[in-house]
Amino acid sequence: MDKPLCSNSTEAAGPRDEDAGALPLGYSRRMPPTGDPREASEGRPPGILYLDHHATTPLDSRVLDAMLPYLREEFGNPASTSHALGWSAEAAVEDARERIARALGARPSEVVFTSGATESNNLALLGLFGAAGGGHAISVESEHPAVLDPCAQLERLGVEVTRLPVSHQGLIEPEAVEAALRDDTRLVSVMAANNEIGVLQPIDRIGALCRARGVFFHTDAAQAAGRIELDVQAGAIDLLSLSAHKFYGPKGIGALFVRGRDPRVRLEPRQWGGGHERGLRSGTLPVAQIVGMAKALELCLEEREAEQGRLLGLRDRLWARLSADLEGVRLNGHPELRLAGNLNVAFEGVDGERLILALPGLAISSGSACASATPGPSHVLTALGLPRALASASLRFGLGRSTTEAVVDQAAERVVEAVRKERSV
Ligand SMILES: *Cc1c(COP(=O)(O)O)cnc(C)c1O
Repeated sequence: MDKPLCSNSTEAAGPRDEDAGALPLGYSRRMPPTGDPREASEGRPPGILYLDHHATTPLDSRVLDAMLPYLREEFGNPASTSHALGWSAEAAVEDARERIARALGARPSEVVFTSGATESNNLALLGLFGAAGGGHAISVESEHPAVLDPCAQLERLGVEVTRLPVSHQGLIEPEAVEAALRDDTRLVSVMAANNEIGVLQPIDRIGALCRARGVFFHTDAAQAAGRIELDVQAGAIDLLSLSAHKFYGPKGIGALFVRGRDPRVRLEPRQWGGGHERGLRSGTLPVAQIVGMAKALELCLEEREAEQGRLLGLRDRLWARLSADLEGVRLNGHPELRLAGNLNVAFEGVDGERLILALPGLAISSGSACASATPGPSHVLTALGLPRALASASLRFGLGRSTTEAVVDQAAERVVEAVRKERSV
């Protein structure tokens, strides 16, 4: 069936033909690029060293391939029960739900599709307490704003919230969680992996102690999914948030695991409509994104060991270069209990924002990362006890699939040069 480019009669003439002619040889708008899928999936824009994989990851081309049929011919609404297009859309969604559930050790009926981790966190926290309010929740100072802000909203609804401090390496002690539990505590929310310093919290131990005390346990696993082992049974997790664009899937799709039994978590919906997702999240399901999310998660799990080992080597190489070539650098966060692809470094005597401006070809984030709307140093870094000046002097490096030794070496060279220059003025 393979036809040479532009031989298709519908594209034989007119402006479309000119469009197609502008594409690089071997590419067509109607076919995905051929060749090594890993190469095509690197998604590295020319001239940019992308070291911001905590902010988002490029869509894997194998994921795009899995999605395309559902953006073209298989466009049905999974809620349409009266015809075949609806049935095949529903079958695709349920297949994806099963695969995502399997990846988490969950049952398919426990997976609720959302628009991303922000929505999942909101549904988990606000949905658990419901409109009635009251009671007590525990979270941590270094959480993502998508947990901290719903916590603030809970307080407005009359829920008391305890925000536990972290150690200077960013860890939360399970004993501290235990000590903060009260008779009216209904929920503990602790992230699996931190988005700024990559620190891995002891969620299994926290889950176990919550279970023993009859308190629900939620974890924001947006950064952890696909990178570390996650099992909702072994971890005694009752609610878990996912976001596909953090693991090489599409943006705008996520999921919330909601434990269905032993114990069953009952949530109040946050929006109402057609009763989709068993009434928990009304709205037509984005079939292509859901299919893409399942594919992306599977690929990450298949490649996890090799990829995380590779990233660890590259991360250590980057740190070795920076700390050998510069004085006054310090690692933020725990040296070992962190994501393989994460490095967060304070460069004494410089301003992170200025440093980033001096590094236009490098896609990284500063110590005020993730909060470009809120000026000032990162709340995560100040939670470690870092003085404001050092927090503002920090850069976050997020390594991922497109990161090679050459990328690390070039990035290190440019950062070293920029820091020296900044310090000399
Ligand atoms: C990215 C991120 C979120 C937000 O996810 P969206 O899907 O973009 O809403 C929440 N929590 C953590 C830890 C994240 O890294």
